[in-house]
Amino acid sequence: MTTLLYDRDAYMTEFTASAVTCEQTKYNGKEAYDIVLDETAFFPEQGGQDCDSGVIRDACKGENFTSVLHVTIKNGIIHHICDKPLEAGCRVKGEINWEQRFDRMQQHSGEHLVSGTVHRLFGADNVGFHLSAREVTLDFNTTFEEQDLELIEETVNRAIYENFETHIFFPSEEELKALDYRSKKELTGQVRIVEYPGYDVCACCAPHVRRTGEIGSIRIIAAEHFKGGTRMWIECGRRSLRTARAQLRDARAISRITSAKIGDIVPAVEKLNDALKDARFKLVKFERDSIMSLVASAMDQPNPTIWLDSCDQDNLRLGVNELAAASAGFCGGFSGNDADGYKFILASSAKDCRALINEMKATFEIRGGGTPDMVQGTIRGIRDAIESYLSNK
Ligand SMILES: [Zn+2]
Repeated sequence: MTTLLYDRDAYMTEFTASAVTCEQTKYNGKEAYDIVLDETAFFPEQGGQDCDSGVIRDACKGENFTSVLHVTIKNGIIHHICDKPLEAGCRVKGEINWEQRFDRMQQHSGEHLVSGTVHRLFGADNVGFHLSAREVTLDFNTTFEEQDLELIEETVNRAIYENFETHIFFPSEEELKALDYRSKKELTGQVRIVEYPGYDVCACCAPHVRRTGEIGSIRIIAAEHFKGGTRMWIECGRRSLRTARAQLRDARAISRITSAKIGDIVPAVEKLNDALKDARFKLVKFERDSIMSLVASAMDQPNPTIWLDSCDQDNLRLGVNELAAASAGFCGGFSGNDADGYKFILASSAKDCRALINEMKATFEIRGGGTPDMVQGTIRGIRDAIESYLSNK
């Protein structure tokens, strides 16, 4: 069994130990080394939380070091998966990536306060937890209203302002039996309890902050329905600050674009959106009118076609239907240009459009299909060549 130094002191960033074994292995398809120490402060990946990173140095020759790529725990033995070997039997010095560790302590302690608060206020359980560099998710077996989320957030932030001590202890079997605590699974052996008095009591193996004030603050970033309950995303401490800063930057940018104060940007964006919808509506109507005048001037051709630089597909179809109602020939609508190609709709009340398109594929690059009455797709070619092809049919 490896002695778990982080169990008693989450703030230990450096430690000395002995390398017990160093065996060659693979990590992400690359050559790596599995190093076991007699004791370690590296937290392994477990309980939904990613592992620590850092370096392990040869204590005598400090310039010899190996980077810790991954840490796992199997049957009480911690395995440090590293990029270089260290000699078994030598004394080593481990150095934890403290910034990453403290960030995770802030998130994990925050998670306990949220889960304990949800349990206390709503009688619901945390049934899933994931903590990585990217996100912190909590799954609950209940759903929440918007005001519930605000109440949880307010309550947990109050616990942070109260700045009380985290109580971590190892109860005896008898004491454990009498204790009301949260746990996702049946536990065996020595159980470690993390208590936030008045807020939460939970079995947990992870490093926690000493006092709740170190969590800094907590924000519930999002909550979505998930497997009949809720998946909640939270951010604590510096993560929360970084996100809030990015969101404020976005809000300032929207404020500049809309010339509205930050508190008024939502109605300003809604107004812009309404104006855009209105403009689109007018454009489609204007386009329809222009198509109808193109239709009128194309009617005298045996195989009438209309051509536009760009066009709403429904308007193009409307124009082609109009042509096909008046002409028995091949009636075509084309939108695009010679360089990029054209979107087309071809219709006829008397002739086989599908056969024509199949025949045209020998001359033009065409994608698309349909029925003998109507075919649509894209065509690459010069407008004059396509028009001349169709006029000879
Ligand atoms: Zn925990």
